[in-house]
Amino acid sequence: MTAGPRPVRAPRGTTLTARSWQTEAPLRMLMNNLDPEVAERPDDLVVYGGTGRAARSWDAYDAIVRTLTTLGDDETLLVQSGKPVGVLTTHEWAPRVLIANSNLVGDWATWPEFRRLEHLGLTMYGQMTAGSWIYIGTQGILQGTYETLAAVAAQRFGGTLAGTLTVTGGCGGMGGAQPLAVTLNGGACLIVDVDGSRLARRVHDRYLDRVAGSLDEALSLVLAAKRSRTALSVGVVGNCAEVLPALLRRGVAVDVVTDQTSAHDPLAYLPVGVALDEWADYAAAKPDELTDRARESMARHVEAMVGFLDAGAEVFDYGNSIRDEARRGGYDRAFDVPGFVPAYIRPLFAEGKGPFRWAALSGDPRDIATTDAAVLDLFPDDDHLHRWIRAAQERVAFQGLPARICWLGHGERDRAGLRFNELVASGGVAAPVVIGRDHLDAGSVASPYRETEAMADGSDAIADWPLLNALVAASSGATWVSLHHGGGVGMGRSIHAGQVSVADGTDLAARKLARVLSNDPAMGVLRHVDAGYARADEVADAHGIRVPMREG
Ligand code: NAD
Repeated sequence: MTAGPRPVRAPRGTTLTARSWQTEAPLRMLMNNLDPEVAERPDDLVVYGGTGRAARSWDAYDAIVRTLTTLGDDETLLVQSGKPVGVLTTHEWAPRVLIANSNLVGDWATWPEFRRLEHLGLTMYGQMTAGSWIYIGTQGILQGTYETLAAVAAQRFGGTLAGTLTVTGGCGGMGGAQPLAVTLNGGACLIVDVDGSRLARRVHDRYLDRVAGSLDEALSLVLAAKRSRTALSVGVVGNCAEVLPALLRRGVAVDVVTDQTSAHDPLAYLPVGVALDEWADYAAAKPDELTDRARESMARHVEAMVGFLDAGAEVFDYGNSIRDEARRGGYDRAFDVPGFVPAYIRPLFAEGKGPFRWAALSGDPRDIATTDAAVLDLFPDDDHLHRWIRAAQERVAFQGLPARICWLGHGERDRAGLRFNELVASGGVAAPVVIGRDHLDAGSVASPYRETEAMADGSDAIADWPLLNALVAASSGATWVSLHHGGGVGMGRSIHAGQVSVADGTDLAARKLARVLSNDPAMGVLRHVDAGYARADEVADAHGIRVPMREG
């Protein structure tokens, strides 16, 4: 008999289910990814991002749990696209889990071929942190979105979004961070989603202020907030491919436009004219026809975004590949819209800065308060970081195990990790802490429509870097390491790696953390040194990161 869905929640407290914290940690984080508070569709093992899964099937999930429960600290579990396929004898510095998700050979790396193989039960879509067990709910993306919108505010609006209106679409697992990121930057936000339950969920989680009953009502609320320079976010049920062109026709004064519908997967973008409750059956019955219709709708959607660009608004693609889908849908100006990484994030990547995150395995929110204080204490002069942590403490509701994210760079992440390990050792926190990151990081991803768009040397599609990154993490003592394809922007468009390490308070963990948390961001610096970014050269020099081609 095959196993079926059931509610999953990670154990809390200090009683081990597995044989050590090095295996308890991946076990709890896998379960945490499927916690109904965390996952978008836990019964289907879908965590976020369209169909990003934590395990291939419930049988595979049970086998992973069973294996982690008995795994030794000199053994390594191999997970192939969400299914455990082997246990090998390794050594205590080796990762306890090695994960490869959704990888396909180049010519076969298309959605139809992926789906054929998925249908045969041979693979699953791992997104970035779904299949690598370090998704921490919408907070994970909130900080990145907050950083991006802060950069927009700095570049265009004098450092604040107060007095501006941002229009966007998609209020799902990731996209749901947008309204709060706008209001944290002081602005007004209108967010459009075809599914009212997604909007309601974000109101419940305090990421969205309210939902309007109609577009007219939503507009009167956000325009009043814009006039009074009040921070307010309003959701409205609608299809972006209809609502954005309507806003453009009506001449609504929009300042910032972006989008986070699940455009990376045409079957996860609802075309105009298809009812919400018919969507899933239609996708299953006629995937090619639905894909064509979704692309046509995306073409109308992006055409309206370009209309706002022409009218002088700040418009950017937010990493969901909607430009390429619109181009395939017949719209030839889609790439007039810039991607957000070259526009705002690359200077941070050149310093090895990226989304550092951690979770308290105790389940006790006080452990996050303690680690927050440790981070504020370690970096007393970083005003931006202090503002973010305080805002997160006030506004972010934890989902699943309490967790925090902030962007730290080379020379910072290892210090934070070691401080956390000391806190575990001294009993300053109740249980070990896992430290990981998104795959969207400085040196861990090749994604020409997103993280590596418009690299200075044209190396956008060179995918050696994420492979090296995974090998470096595995060689440096990470607890679990993952290598995925297709996350964020979809099949054929990205290759990326992740690592998670466990601060369990031991000396061995300290030695591993010191290496992993400096070598991992060093990959970001090296990637950008190699591509010719002067800032990366400066950071490499200042931090003693060796670059053989510049030596001798
Ligand atoms: P999700 O599947 O949880 O949510 C997508 C939402 O879009 C759903 O609520 C759905 O109802 C809505 N939607 C679909 N078609 C629509 C339409 N035509 N009009 C209005 N709403 C529509 O996905 P998610 O996790 O929120 O991710 C969204 C996208 O952002 C994905 O493509 C993902 O890969 C990408 N992403 C970007 C970043 C980044 O850093 N910028 C990070 C992660 C993910």
